[in-house]
Amino acid sequence: MRGYIPDYQLTTTSSLAETLSLLAKEPGVWKPFAGGTDLMVLLEAGKLLHRNYVNIWHLDELRLIEIEPQHITVGALTTYTDVQANEILRDEFPMLCQAASETGGLAIQNRGTLGGNIVNASPAADSPPALLAYDAEIELSSSQGSRWLSYQGFHMGYKQMNMREDELLTRIRLPRTAQPLKHYYRKVGTRKAQAISKVCFAAVARTDGKRIDELRIALGSIAPVPLRCIRTEDRLGGQEIDQALIALGKEALAREIAPIDDIRSTKNYRLRISQNLLADFLENIAAA
Ligand SMILES: Cc1cc2nc3c(=O)[nH]c(=O)nc-3n(C[C@H](O)[C@H](O)[C@H](O)COP(=O)(O)OP(=O)(O)OC[C@H]3O[C@@H](n4cnc5c(N)ncnc54)[C@H](O)[C@@H]3O)c2cc1C
Repeated sequence: MRGYIPDYQLTTTSSLAETLSLLAKEPGVWKPFAGGTDLMVLLEAGKLLHRNYVNIWHLDELRLIEIEPQHITVGALTTYTDVQANEILRDEFPMLCQAASETGGLAIQNRGTLGGNIVNASPAADSPPALLAYDAEIELSSSQGSRWLSYQGFHMGYKQMNMREDELLTRIRLPRTAQPLKHYYRKVGTRKAQAISKVCFAAVARTDGKRIDELRIALGSIAPVPLRCIRTEDRLGGQEIDQALIALGKEALAREIAPIDDIRSTKNYRLRISQNLLADFLENIAAA
């Protein structure tokens, strides 16, 4: 049943500074309301427990895509539609654009933001695996200043983040590289579109012939948090790809991820699919 609207407060500030000062004045009382695509679902279901929100949708300084020689910086309010429309992101970070194009339908893509996807912290979200594989950094801002941290490690447990109540996620930074990378992104759901992931797999690699010189693998829906698979990467890095290595990679992945049975899938299916996607990724980069 829909939440009772008069129980909720939504305030709009006039600037980023005013928003940060509101979050600092009453920590934990106000939470950001960005595109509202996650929050409104909870409201409609009568499950939106928190009552006070500060609208940040109009803060245009958080809706940007800045190209610098070393990085591309994306504002937290950048929508999936904005991501897909950017030519340089499409060229250098295709997995992020693919994740954006496979997130919900057009209405959600016009309204849903990258920052909201990260802080909503669903283990099944589709952008986090791509951001982890691209070794993204995130900026958290408060009235005391800003700090940049690696996105890897931001999610500390189910819906637990390395973020204070007075902080706002403001920007996401993607490191550019001159070295050509191979990118591999697959979202597996019940349908081709408008489905929540059963498994989401994102990986990048740089190879010399069949040898893997650089590798980052991340998965969604297989643990309480979006997961970078460091131990599997370590097992595969520096090695030549052949069937024996693919088998070793599948074993390492099985030890590293912890899928569960739930309403959308089973742990056995999730494990099998994750291993098959790893094998397909390795076969693809070996053949390329
Ligand atoms: C029909 C439908 C389909 C969907 N399909 C997908 C899908 O395929 N894949 C997928 O990953 N997601 C999907 N979603 C989920 C949702 O659209 C995304 O998670 C979206 O990116 C959330 O962004 P938002 O701006 O709407 O967040 P909001 O709903 O505004 O906020 C979500 C959470 O993040 C917090 N927050 C928002 N911005 C900030 C910020 N800058 N700093 C700190 N905290 C912040 C809010 O307080 C809230 O807790 C779907 C949702 C719907 C309704």
